[in-house]
Amino acid sequence: MDDAALPFPSSVCHACMHLQLVRSKTSTFLLCRALAVKYPRQPVLVCASFEPPQQAARPK
Ligand code: SF4
Repeated sequence: MDDAALPFPSSVCHACMHLQLVRSKTSTFLLCRALAVKYPRQPVLVCASFEPPQQAARPK
């Protein structure tokens, strides 16, 4: 499945390190590993717990 086929493409979760995609045979769900509510109402447009993916350390 390519990214264009993901649900709620406007959700900030897609750019967040806490997102885990959960796939069934027919659906894809956006699971949040940071919030007590594992499946927040989508699309999430603003989130205080948002964190971008951690960057790999650059060699010096
Ligand atoms: S922390 Fe917020 S932005 Fe990140 S996956 Fe959870 S709900 Fe989405």
